[in-house]
Amino acid sequence: YQRLVLASRPRGEPTADNFRLETVEVPALQDGQLLVRNHYLSLDPYMRGRMSESKSYAASQALDETMIGGTAGEVVASRHPDFAVGDAVVGNGGWTEMTLSDGTGLRKVDTSRIPLSAYLGAVGMPGMTAWYGLNRILELKAGQTLCVSAASGAVGSAVGQLAKLQGVRAVGIAGGPEKCAYVVDELGFDACVDYKAGNLFADLKAAAPDGIDGIFENVAGEVFDAALAQTNAFARVALCGMIAGYNGEDIPLRSVRALLKNRITLRGFIVTEHLDCWPQGLAELGTLVADSKLKYRESVAEGLPAAPEAFIGLLKGRNFGKQLVKLI
Ligand code: NDP
Repeated sequence: YQRLVLASRPRGEPTADNFRLETVEVPALQDGQLLVRNHYLSLDPYMRGRMSESKSYAASQALDETMIGGTAGEVVASRHPDFAVGDAVVGNGGWTEMTLSDGTGLRKVDTSRIPLSAYLGAVGMPGMTAWYGLNRILELKAGQTLCVSAASGAVGSAVGQLAKLQGVRAVGIAGGPEKCAYVVDELGFDACVDYKAGNLFADLKAAAPDGIDGIFENVAGEVFDAALAQTNAFARVALCGMIAGYNGEDIPLRSVRALLKNRITLRGFIVTEHLDCWPQGLAELGTLVADSKLKYRESVAEGLPAAPEAFIGLLKGRNFGKQLVKLI
């Protein structure tokens, strides 16, 4: 089978040369092990950080090792008491067609009402990120206004929809008219501002006439500045991501005065540090998806060799919804 390893560390934007495709032999199973055939690979912005050597909240990805990443697949061989051939599972198998596992971090999932791929998106880590930031940091009341950036993406799309279910007014920020139309027409946000249209501050002011009470920030830079400029007194910020700076770009914070003037509370968070919330959050997200009350969209690249380009595209907004790679 094939796998992708990190061949070199990127400077600035990653390139296809940073990855290397390798062919590996299927290993023989020992007692307590199982083999998973991965059907979907999740591509996520945090992987850019892991490709660098610089110190962060998580260890960096080792060179010449399989790229880390979430996966959803099927057990194809098992000498493990808790897993049987045919079980649908999600875990962190990495950028590889097959994963040998001892069961650590592997979770059986029910695909009768929820598609397997959704466990990497709305009913997985991105959905939990939305749930945590909204329910544990922003804690908005019905009638208040939320602003979320990267609004058409895996996290942002869930943030706005969950907020709407709580009676909160949801305003998105996204790149381009197509994504903005989707956010309003399909996802039901109250408004969505196209930050590429050249009128961000004025357009956001018009979209949030009562000001902003909670910012779910995924982007940083100008997009964050525009939202901060519209905050009401005592607004909160859930600082989730700063994707505008992941390739080393400058992301200055210019609306810093608003932090004091509006007595803002800002909290950064890493969703994997709050595993105690996952059972409740995933149960709620799963019910909403199964009942079609939480919608999502996927960008699916075909085959493992397509993963590097799809990942590079994710950091440039070429994806439209959760970025996956379909392996089988
Ligand atoms: P998305 O599906 O939202 O895809 C990324 C999107 O970011 C792109 O589609 C693009 O949308 C937008 N984007 C990319 N570059 C820029 C830029 N320079 N300026 C503005 N927008 C840009 O990804 P996810 O939903 O997986 O992740 C969203 C954010 O959440 C990321 O910042 C990620 O790091 C963060 N995150 C944080 C977690 C945590 O625990 N703190 C956990 C999971 C995710 P557009 O075309 O609209 O610009």
